[in-house]
Amino acid sequence: MPIKDAVIPFVFDALPVRGALVQMDVTWQRMQEGHQYDGSVAEILGHATAAAALIAQSLKFDGSVTLQLSSDGPISLLVMQCTDKLDLRGMAISQSIAEGATFAEMVSGARCAVTIDAGAMERPYQGIVEISPESLAGSLENYFTRSVQVPSHLKLDSCATHCGGILLQQMPGEKSVSEDDWRRLGILIATLRSEELAAGATPDLLRKLFAEDDVRVFGARSVRFSCRCSQEKVEEVLRFLGEAETRQALKEKGQVDVTCEYCGRVRTFDTVDVSRVFAGHVLAGTESIH
Ligand SMILES: [Zn+2]
Repeated sequence: MPIKDAVIPFVFDALPVRGALVQMDVTWQRMQEGHQYDGSVAEILGHATAAAALIAQSLKFDGSVTLQLSSDGPISLLVMQCTDKLDLRGMAISQSIAEGATFAEMVSGARCAVTIDAGAMERPYQGIVEISPESLAGSLENYFTRSVQVPSHLKLDSCATHCGGILLQQMPGEKSVSEDDWRRLGILIATLRSEELAAGATPDLLRKLFAEDDVRVFGARSVRFSCRCSQEKVEEVLRFLGEAETRQALKEKGQVDVTCEYCGRVRTFDTVDVSRVFAGHVLAGTESIH
């Protein structure tokens, strides 16, 4: 039976390589809800969605992975976050995209980073991802192979209704993978077709893909869209904005609407709400917070 909106981790019995396969329908469609993404922007966002889940599934602690990209090209910002529980949220901001624009053109001058946050216990770890002109998958593959020193193969796929991908990583240790085997595995994952992945992630799909190898497949883990925005956080934003500005907005529109950029949820504040938010607040609205 096909498994949708899930990550399937696996290892090779004879090779020190681990991997994960991800497929998303509902999660990916929810991610796009309320946003009118241009097709090529949606494709890159879908790739980022699959990549974040593939990276986060290997976290061994309570934390999250954030992939953030800003550029001088039409895609000015892309943020994708996935927790160790595989709760995902993300969004992109873009200007209109020229017909036939390449990945390199859409993210020209990009600054891209992967941040691993292990919660309140430790400082977040941030790695800079150098953007390869061909794709996000290529950029992340290079990042893991060169910067993190974990040789990796990554294939990402995305269309309007589904996204997914597969990640292979060499495991550190005494045994290493021969160059031939590593190259062979890279060629195999490149043959994974969009239609196959769209039908759902299954252990059989992995066994078919790596027919010559013994693949040990672990239990599937569910992925879902989940936004961590809250009433409290929005009120904090209003306090940061300041009482004077908030009251000005209130005066102009009769209410203040704050929309979450991730999930699209709108929280409305009327006069009474605004008074409550600023009641007992020590800073006057005109003072800035340093
Ligand atoms: Zn939200």
